[in-house]
Amino acid sequence: MVRKNIVLGIGMAVVLVLLGWGGYSLWRLHQDKLALQTRVTKLDRSVAGLEAELARVNKDNASLTDFLETERTKNSDLNKSLETEQNNNSNLAQALQAEQSRNNANFNQLQQLSGTVGTLTKLSQTDRELLQKYSKVYFLNENYVPSQLTAINPQYLYNKSAAIQIHTSVVPFLMRMFTAAAGDGINLQVISGYRSFGEQAAVKTGYKMSYGSGANKFSADQGYSEHQLGTTVDLVTSENKGSFTGFDKTKAYAWLVSNAHRFGFALSYPKGNFYYIYEPWHWRFVGTTLASKLHDSNQHFYDLTQREISQHLVSIFD
Ligand SMILES: [Zn+2]
Repeated sequence: MVRKNIVLGIGMAVVLVLLGWGGYSLWRLHQDKLALQTRVTKLDRSVAGLEAELARVNKDNASLTDFLETERTKNSDLNKSLETEQNNNSNLAQALQAEQSRNNANFNQLQQLSGTVGTLTKLSQTDRELLQKYSKVYFLNENYVPSQLTAINPQYLYNKSAAIQIHTSVVPFLMRMFTAAAGDGINLQVISGYRSFGEQAAVKTGYKMSYGSGANKFSADQGYSEHQLGTTVDLVTSENKGSFTGFDKTKAYAWLVSNAHRFGFALSYPKGNFYYIYEPWHWRFVGTTLASKLHDSNQHFYDLTQREISQHLVSIFD
Protein backbone atom coordinates (compact mmCIF):
# COMPACT_ATOMS: atom_id res chain seq x y z
CA MET A 1 0.00 0.00 0.00
CA VAL A 2 2.69 2.35 1.09
CA ARG A 3 4.68 1.53 -2.03
CA LYS A 4 1.67 2.14 -4.14
CA ASN A 5 1.22 5.56 -2.59
CA ILE A 6 4.87 6.36 -3.06
CA VAL A 7 4.68 5.47 -6.74
CA LEU A 8 1.53 7.48 -7.09
CA GLY A 9 3.17 10.48 -5.36
CA ILE A 10 6.19 10.31 -7.62
CA GLY A 11 3.91 10.04 -10.62
CA MET A 12 1.95 13.07 -9.58
CA ALA A 13 5.13 14.99 -8.91
CA VAL A 14 6.38 14.15 -12.39
CA VAL A 15 3.09 15.29 -13.85
CA LEU A 16 3.29 18.51 -11.87
CA VAL A 17 6.84 19.14 -13.01
CA LEU A 18 5.86 18.45 -16.59
CA LEU A 19 2.90 20.81 -16.32
CA GLY A 20 5.06 23.52 -14.74
CA TRP A 21 7.70 23.24 -17.48
CA GLY A 22 5.02 23.26 -20.16
CA GLY A 23 3.47 26.39 -18.67
CA TYR A 24 6.82 28.06 -18.38
CA SER A 25 7.60 27.25 -21.98
CA LEU A 26 4.31 28.65 -23.13
CA TRP A 27 4.95 31.83 -21.13
CA ARG A 28 8.39 32.14 -22.68
CA LEU A 29 6.99 31.73 -26.17
CA HIS A 30 4.41 34.37 -25.46
CA GLN A 31 7.10 36.72 -24.21
CA ASP A 32 9.15 36.13 -27.37
CA LYS A 33 6.11 36.79 -29.50
CA LEU A 34 5.51 40.08 -27.68
CA ALA A 35 9.13 41.13 -28.18
CA LEU A 36 8.96 40.26 -31.87
CA GLN A 37 5.73 42.22 -32.23
CA THR A 38 7.42 45.23 -30.65
CA ARG A 39 10.38 44.95 -33.07
CA VAL A 40 8.06 44.57 -36.04
CA THR A 41 6.20 47.67 -34.96
CA LYS A 42 9.50 49.54 -34.63
CA LEU A 43 10.65 48.32 -38.04
CA ASP A 44 7.35 49.44 -39.54
CA ARG A 45 7.90 52.87 -38.09
CA SER A 46 11.42 53.00 -39.48
CA VAL A 47 10.20 51.96 -42.90
CA ALA A 48 7.53 54.66 -42.78
CA GLY A 49 10.19 57.18 -41.74
CA LEU A 50 12.50 56.07 -44.57
CA GLU A 51 9.63 56.28 -47.02
CA ALA A 52 8.84 59.79 -45.87
CA GLU A 53 12.56 60.63 -46.18
CA LEU A 54 12.67 59.14 -49.66
CA ALA A 55 9.63 61.18 -50.66
CA ARG A 56 11.32 64.33 -49.37
CA VAL A 57 14.53 63.52 -51.22
CA ASN A 58 12.56 62.83 -54.39
CA LYS A 59 10.80 66.13 -53.98
CA ASP A 60 14.12 67.92 -53.44
CA ASN A 61 15.54 66.20 -56.51
CA ALA A 62 12.62 67.41 -58.56
CA SER A 63 13.18 70.96 -57.27
CA LEU A 64 16.87 70.71 -58.04
CA THR A 65 16.13 69.47 -61.54
CA ASP A 66 13.75 72.38 -62.05
CA PHE A 67 16.34 74.75 -60.66
CA LEU A 68 19.03 73.31 -62.95
CA GLU A 69 16.73 73.62 -65.93
CA THR A 70 15.99 77.25 -65.07
CA GLU A 71 19.71 77.90 -64.60
CA ARG A 72 20.48 76.30 -67.98
CA THR A 73 17.89 78.49 -69.64
CA LYS A 74 19.35 81.53 -67.91
CA ASN A 75 22.87 80.54 -69.03
CA SER A 76 21.70 80.07 -72.56
CA ASP A 77 20.06 83.52 -72.45
CA LEU A 78 23.23 84.97 -70.96
CA ASN A 79 25.32 83.38 -73.70
CA LYS A 80 23.04 84.93 -76.28
CA SER A 81 23.32 88.35 -74.60
CA LEU A 82 27.07 87.89 -74.36
CA GLU A 83 27.27 87.09 -78.04
CA THR A 84 25.17 90.13 -78.87
CA GLU A 85 27.33 92.19 -76.54
CA GLN A 86 30.48 90.91 -78.21
CA ASN A 87 29.09 91.82 -81.60
CA ASN A 88 28.26 95.25 -80.27
CA ASN A 89 31.76 95.55 -78.84
CA SER A 90 33.29 94.50 -82.12
CA ASN A 91 31.20 97.12 -83.92
CA LEU A 92 32.20 99.70 -81.33
CA ALA A 93 35.86 98.76 -81.70
CA GLN A 94 35.60 99.20 -85.45
CA ALA A 95 33.87 102.52 -85.00
CA LEU A 96 36.55 103.56 -82.53
CA GLN A 97 39.29 102.57 -84.94
CA ALA A 98 37.66 104.50 -87.74
CA GLU A 99 37.38 107.49 -85.39
CA GLN A 100 41.02 107.19 -84.41
CA SER A 101 42.09 107.03 -88.04
CA ARG A 102 40.04 110.15 -88.74
CA ASN A 103 41.56 111.83 -85.68
CA ASN A 104 45.07 110.90 -86.80
CA ALA A 105 44.38 112.28 -90.25
CA ASN A 106 43.02 115.46 -88.68
CA PHE A 107 45.99 115.65 -86.33
CA ASN A 108 48.45 115.23 -89.21
CA GLN A 109 46.63 117.91 -91.14
CA LEU A 110 46.70 120.16 -88.09
CA GLN A 111 50.39 119.46 -87.59
CA GLN A 112 51.13 120.27 -91.22
CA LEU A 113 49.06 123.39 -90.90
CA SER A 114 50.77 124.50 -87.69
CA GLY A 115 54.10 123.65 -89.31
CA THR A 116 53.17 125.90 -92.20
CA VAL A 117 52.00 128.61 -89.81
CA GLY A 118 55.24 128.21 -87.82
CA THR A 119 57.30 128.51 -90.99
CA LEU A 120 55.33 131.54 -92.12
CA THR A 121 55.69 133.16 -88.70
CA LYS A 122 59.42 132.47 -88.69
CA LEU A 123 59.70 133.78 -92.24
CA SER A 124 57.73 136.91 -91.40
CA GLN A 125 60.16 137.55 -88.54
CA THR A 126 63.26 137.05 -90.70
CA ASP A 127 64.79 140.05 -92.41
CA ARG A 128 64.33 139.44 -96.15
CA GLU A 129 67.32 141.64 -96.98
CA LEU A 130 69.67 139.08 -95.38
CA LEU A 131 69.44 136.83 -98.46
CA GLN A 132 68.85 139.49 -101.10
CA LYS A 133 70.94 139.56 -104.25
CA TYR A 134 72.25 143.04 -104.90
CA SER A 135 73.34 144.71 -108.08
CA LYS A 136 74.17 148.14 -109.35
CA VAL A 137 70.45 148.75 -109.86
CA TYR A 138 69.08 147.12 -106.74
CA PHE A 139 70.65 147.65 -103.37
CA LEU A 140 69.92 148.25 -99.74
CA ASN A 141 68.11 151.40 -98.71
CA GLU A 142 70.60 153.87 -97.26
CA ASN A 143 68.56 153.97 -94.05
CA TYR A 144 68.76 150.22 -93.56
CA VAL A 145 70.21 149.17 -90.19
CA PRO A 146 70.50 145.52 -89.00
CA SER A 147 68.00 144.53 -86.29
CA GLN A 148 70.72 143.94 -83.69
CA LEU A 149 74.49 144.32 -83.70
CA THR A 150 77.15 142.91 -81.36
CA ALA A 151 80.79 143.93 -81.00
CA ILE A 152 83.20 141.16 -82.02
CA ASN A 153 85.58 140.06 -79.25
CA PRO A 154 88.91 141.92 -79.89
CA GLN A 155 90.84 138.61 -79.81
CA TYR A 156 89.33 137.84 -83.25
CA LEU A 157 90.23 141.23 -84.73
CA TYR A 158 93.19 142.18 -86.89
CA ASN A 159 93.29 145.54 -85.15
CA LYS A 160 92.67 144.76 -81.46
CA SER A 161 91.67 148.34 -80.68
CA ALA A 162 89.10 148.57 -83.47
CA ALA A 163 85.40 148.34 -82.59
CA ILE A 164 83.87 146.03 -85.15
CA GLN A 165 80.27 144.89 -84.96
CA ILE A 166 78.31 142.19 -86.76
CA HIS A 167 74.69 141.03 -86.81
CA THR A 168 74.01 139.50 -83.37
CA SER A 169 72.53 136.30 -84.83
CA VAL A 170 75.72 135.68 -86.84
CA VAL A 171 78.05 135.92 -83.80
CA PRO A 172 77.78 132.24 -82.70
CA PHE A 173 78.44 131.03 -86.28
CA LEU A 174 81.51 133.25 -86.61
CA MET A 175 82.81 132.16 -83.19
CA ARG A 176 82.39 128.47 -84.08
CA MET A 177 84.19 129.04 -87.39
CA PHE A 178 87.13 130.78 -85.71
CA THR A 179 87.37 128.03 -83.06
CA ALA A 180 87.32 125.29 -85.74
CA ALA A 181 89.96 127.15 -87.79
CA ALA A 182 92.18 127.58 -84.72
CA GLY A 183 91.75 123.84 -84.04
CA ASP A 184 93.14 123.19 -87.54
CA GLY A 185 96.07 125.55 -86.91
CA ILE A 186 94.55 128.33 -89.03
CA ASN A 187 94.67 131.95 -87.91
CA LEU A 188 91.76 134.11 -89.02
CA GLN A 189 91.21 137.78 -88.19
CA VAL A 190 88.30 140.09 -88.87
CA ILE A 191 89.41 143.35 -90.46
CA SER A 192 85.94 144.63 -91.33
CA GLY A 193 82.36 143.79 -90.36
CA TYR A 194 79.23 145.93 -90.25
CA ARG A 195 79.57 149.25 -92.01
CA SER A 196 76.78 151.80 -92.04
CA PHE A 197 75.90 153.62 -95.25
CA GLY A 198 77.88 156.66 -94.03
CA GLU A 199 80.94 154.62 -93.07
CA GLN A 200 80.88 152.84 -96.41
CA ALA A 201 80.74 156.21 -98.18
CA ALA A 202 83.80 157.34 -96.18
CA VAL A 203 85.67 154.12 -97.04
CA LYS A 204 84.76 154.69 -100.68
CA THR A 205 86.19 158.20 -100.57
CA GLY A 206 89.38 156.81 -99.01
CA TYR A 207 89.71 154.17 -101.72
CA LYS A 208 89.06 156.77 -104.40
CA MET A 209 91.83 158.90 -103.06
CA SER A 210 94.23 155.95 -103.12
CA TYR A 211 93.12 154.19 -106.29
CA GLY A 212 91.34 156.86 -108.31
CA SER A 213 88.55 155.67 -110.59
CA GLY A 214 89.58 152.02 -110.13
CA ALA A 215 87.81 152.13 -106.77
CA ASN A 216 84.46 151.61 -108.47
CA LYS A 217 85.50 148.09 -109.29
CA PHE A 218 86.29 146.80 -105.82
CA SER A 219 84.18 148.87 -103.54
CA ALA A 220 80.45 149.12 -103.92
CA ASP A 221 79.18 152.35 -105.39
CA GLN A 222 78.63 155.23 -103.02
CA GLY A 223 77.64 153.61 -99.73
CA TYR A 224 76.13 150.47 -101.14
CA SER A 225 77.71 147.34 -99.73
CA GLU A 226 76.88 143.93 -98.33
CA HIS A 227 78.67 145.15 -95.21
CA GLN A 228 75.64 147.31 -94.43
CA LEU A 229 73.74 144.05 -93.76
CA GLY A 230 75.90 143.25 -90.74
CA THR A 231 76.27 139.65 -91.91
CA THR A 232 79.41 140.15 -93.96
CA VAL A 233 83.02 140.10 -92.80
CA ASP A 234 86.36 140.78 -94.48
CA LEU A 235 88.89 138.25 -93.23
CA VAL A 236 92.66 138.33 -93.17
CA THR A 237 95.35 136.19 -91.53
CA SER A 238 98.55 136.88 -89.61
CA GLU A 239 100.07 134.36 -92.02
CA ASN A 240 99.79 137.10 -94.70
CA LYS A 241 100.38 140.01 -92.26
CA GLY A 242 96.76 141.09 -92.52
CA SER A 243 96.94 142.01 -96.19
CA PHE A 244 94.19 141.49 -98.77
CA THR A 245 96.76 141.11 -101.49
CA GLY A 246 97.78 137.50 -101.76
CA PHE A 247 95.10 136.39 -99.29
CA ASP A 248 93.90 133.79 -101.79
CA LYS A 249 97.34 132.14 -101.65
CA THR A 250 97.15 131.53 -97.89
CA LYS A 251 96.28 128.34 -95.98
CA ALA A 252 93.57 130.43 -94.28
CA TYR A 253 91.82 131.06 -97.59
CA ALA A 254 92.12 127.39 -98.63
CA TRP A 255 90.63 126.44 -95.25
CA LEU A 256 87.73 128.88 -95.75
CA VAL A 257 86.99 127.50 -99.22
CA SER A 258 86.79 123.98 -97.73
CA ASN A 259 85.09 124.78 -94.42
CA ALA A 260 83.35 128.18 -94.29
CA HIS A 261 80.08 126.68 -95.61
CA ARG A 262 79.81 124.51 -92.48
CA PHE A 263 79.39 127.73 -90.52
CA GLY A 264 77.11 129.42 -93.05
CA PHE A 265 79.61 131.66 -94.82
CA ALA A 266 79.97 131.97 -98.59
CA LEU A 267 82.32 133.86 -100.87
CA SER A 268 80.35 136.66 -102.56
CA TYR A 269 82.75 137.72 -105.28
CA PRO A 270 84.82 134.85 -106.67
CA LYS A 271 87.32 135.17 -109.48
CA GLY A 272 85.66 136.24 -112.74
CA ASN A 273 82.34 137.42 -111.24
CA PHE A 274 80.30 140.10 -113.01
CA TYR A 275 79.85 142.35 -110.00
CA TYR A 276 83.10 143.40 -108.44
CA ILE A 277 86.71 142.50 -108.52
CA TYR A 278 87.74 139.18 -107.03
CA GLU A 279 87.37 139.53 -103.25
CA PRO A 280 88.69 136.34 -101.61
CA TRP A 281 88.54 138.04 -98.16
CA HIS A 282 84.85 139.02 -98.38
CA TRP A 283 82.57 136.39 -96.81
CA ARG A 284 78.84 136.81 -96.42
CA PHE A 285 76.78 134.80 -93.94
CA VAL A 286 73.95 133.06 -95.84
CA GLY A 287 73.13 130.21 -93.41
CA THR A 288 74.56 126.69 -93.35
CA THR A 289 71.98 125.07 -95.68
CA LEU A 290 72.47 127.56 -98.50
CA ALA A 291 76.25 127.82 -97.99
CA SER A 292 76.53 124.00 -98.04
CA LYS A 293 74.38 123.80 -101.17
CA LEU A 294 76.63 126.35 -102.90
CA HIS A 295 79.77 124.55 -101.74
CA ASP A 296 78.54 121.11 -102.80
CA SER A 297 77.38 122.31 -106.24
CA ASN A 298 80.50 124.43 -106.74
CA GLN A 299 78.37 127.54 -107.28
CA HIS A 300 78.37 131.00 -105.80
CA PHE A 301 75.62 133.13 -104.23
CA TYR A 302 75.16 135.35 -107.30
CA ASP A 303 74.98 132.30 -109.61
CA LEU A 304 71.58 131.33 -108.17
CA THR A 305 68.25 132.98 -108.90
CA GLN A 306 66.65 135.01 -106.14
CA ARG A 307 63.86 132.43 -105.98
CA GLU A 308 66.35 129.60 -105.30
CA ILE A 309 68.12 131.67 -102.67
CA SER A 310 64.96 132.82 -100.90
CA GLN A 311 63.95 129.21 -100.16
CA HIS A 312 66.73 129.19 -97.55
CA LEU A 313 65.66 132.38 -95.77
CA VAL A 314 63.52 130.59 -93.21
CA SER A 315 66.44 128.42 -92.06
CA ILE A 316 69.20 131.03 -92.29
CA PHE A 317 69.97 130.95 -88.55
CA ASP A 318 69.23 127.22 -87.95
ZN1 LIG B 1 84.03 143.15 -97.92
